[in-house]
Amino acid sequence: MIGHECGHHAFSDYQLVNDVIGFILHSVLLTPYFSWKYSHRRHHSNTSSIEHDEVYVPRLKSELRWFSNYLSNPLGRVLALSCTLTLGWPLYLVFNASGRSYGRYASHYDPHGPIFNDHERLQIYISDVGVIASGYVLYRIVLAQGLAWLVCIYGVPLQIMSGFIVLITFLHHTHSSLPHYDSFEWDWLRRALATVDRDFGILNKVFHNITDTHVLHHLFSTIPHYHAMEATKAIKPLLGEYYQFDGTPIYKAIWRDSKKCIYVEKDEGSKGKGIFW
Ligand SMILES: [Zn+2]
Repeated sequence: MIGHECGHHAFSDYQLVNDVIGFILHSVLLTPYFSWKYSHRRHHSNTSSIEHDEVYVPRLKSELRWFSNYLSNPLGRVLALSCTLTLGWPLYLVFNASGRSYGRYASHYDPHGPIFNDHERLQIYISDVGVIASGYVLYRIVLAQGLAWLVCIYGVPLQIMSGFIVLITFLHHTHSSLPHYDSFEWDWLRRALATVDRDFGILNKVFHNITDTHVLHHLFSTIPHYHAMEATKAIKPLLGEYYQFDGTPIYKAIWRDSKKCIYVEKDEGSKGKGIFW
């Protein structure tokens, strides 16, 4: 969370402090800091754009893969959800899985990949150096303490964190009441409002309320987590019906939304313009 806020320059008023702390925290978690900072910012500035969003970009019905039919049953969904929650985060970082289509291989670890522009490439190299340095430290720990020790102390918590990153962000951006837009209809305010706050019950507190303040985060991404509830309470009456919240228990919500949200189609009522549901 702190690392995420560093990427938004929400942790400190000083960019250097944000970048140093963010770089250390991300590298320790084997996530390339600057790579993610840039792609995440582009996600924020293009949320719900069917053409330019960076992550959770839904497919059109015509673009569904051949195996989609085999997964649209309870067993297939359990399988797909298990893979998404265990491997989704590393697959996104390494292969841009569920990310924007660049028409070629795109990876957060590739400084020359299509996700980044020429001004950013040097910092992508620096991000990779951070990850490699962390990998080396982990290797030394294995030599000193053994692999089983590292898996228990580091691997399992890292896996739990990855699973929750995917679960939380998937539910923020995937809901049958959230539209996607193409460039005819997309604008800054619409994109910010096309996210939904969720209720993780007791885990809301554990996650410092990032779960139920995501609409706010997309409107004002420099507000840190410890002010997010207060600010959400302030914007709710202003947004009125435009504020999206779904209080369905999470285990029900993940099952329902992974079942219902398979692809999007153009809204017939929008007369050929670009709103997708
Ligand atoms: Zn963010």
